[in-house]
Amino acid sequence: MQEIEEAFQGNLCRCTGYRPILEGYKTFAKDAGCCGRRGNEAGCCMSNDQEIDGDLSMKLFDPSEFTPLDQTQDFIFPPELLLLDKGACKQLRFKGERVLWIQPSNLTELLDLKSQHPTAKLVVGNTEVGIEIKFKNMLYPVILAPGYISELNTVQYTEGGIIFGAACSLTLIREELRKAMSELPPHQTQVFQAVLEQLQWFAGQQIRNVAAVGGNIMTASPISDLNPVFMAAGCLLTLLSKGGKRVVKIDDKFFTGYRKTAVKPEEILLSIEIPYTRKVTCVGHIIGAIVADTKAHAQRAARAVKISYKELKPIITIQEAIESQSFYEPIRKLERGNLSQGFKESDHIIEGTSFSPPKIMFV
Ligand code: FAD
Repeated sequence: MQEIEEAFQGNLCRCTGYRPILEGYKTFAKDAGCCGRRGNEAGCCMSNDQEIDGDLSMKLFDPSEFTPLDQTQDFIFPPELLLLDKGACKQLRFKGERVLWIQPSNLTELLDLKSQHPTAKLVVGNTEVGIEIKFKNMLYPVILAPGYISELNTVQYTEGGIIFGAACSLTLIREELRKAMSELPPHQTQVFQAVLEQLQWFAGQQIRNVAAVGGNIMTASPISDLNPVFMAAGCLLTLLSKGGKRVVKIDDKFFTGYRKTAVKPEEILLSIEIPYTRKVTCVGHIIGAIVADTKAHAQRAARAVKISYKELKPIITIQEAIESQSFYEPIRKLERGNLSQGFKESDHIIEGTSFSPPKIMFV
């Protein structure tokens, strides 16, 4: 039932009246209150006699009136749509008065077409381009539809993170990131968590089902919900053209202006890599501690602490530390004892000259 309610978010004007529609959909939900639970709950329409005056009923439907499901019948899913899932097999072209629409059947074809028509618009979910055409009167004479090209739809786990093809829908990305979060240690998935939080507020379910991650990046809108997280996380983009491939960071050099990117006209966005977060055990030195009886007191005390820093000459080498007399106390010393006895009792004797960088200690 939660899924059905989510699907309605932001999709109907409130004056339409959600209740009868949602009540109607409850007949499809196993976990719907009334009347999916058939009288097993307090307040369920099946357990209370809610008939009023014999004519009026509080029940919006009576499940006993439904045509029972015939278990011998298979649901028929349109075979044409099943084929689409396996990738487009042949190129499709439609030519109208003002627009040529081409669905390339593979990546090579797409790159060829993009080099022949550098100004062609790639369209995947059409949730940006559709708005531009309908409300901003934009005209794109050549449209390329690469949505079924497998390389643009892959999900690949690498050492550094997860690579999503540019045509991956936001719903798919949400599912994959949730799965990764349930399988990987939390310190590795903090960027995923941030992306998921943004996706929660991103349009409605229907838009997320068709809108692709590449479309959001390439629109380069200043109000994009995902680009700020991708930039902060240092995500990598792979761009492809007939001439080759390049990997760029999604940063202020990538976004060159309002709705503008550094992607060249003959290039397409192939994929985005969302990185794992690396484990940070300690940043800097602990310079103090607050001891308090409750967490709230500790937080109040922490806010009262004022720390001021002053610029100091950095001490990197042991020589610099000796010159500035900068040591951790207590100073540990190597003292000369009985040298020959020490050699006699040693398990191993290493001879020769060795140099070691600072901070490595001999025990
Ligand atoms: P499309 O419209 O297909 O393409 C968008 C642009 O990207 C085009 O310029 C296209 O040429 C280019 N492009 C696409 N793929 C590639 C590629 N592989 N290589 C090169 N160029 C490419 N956005 C938000 O950030 N937050 C929201 O909450 C939000 N809510 C929305 C609600 C509604 C009702 C609508 C209609 C839109 C909303 N959007 C929102 C905007 C939009 O949904 C997103 O930007 C979405 O990710 C676009 O993806 P798409 O596949 O539909 O893009």
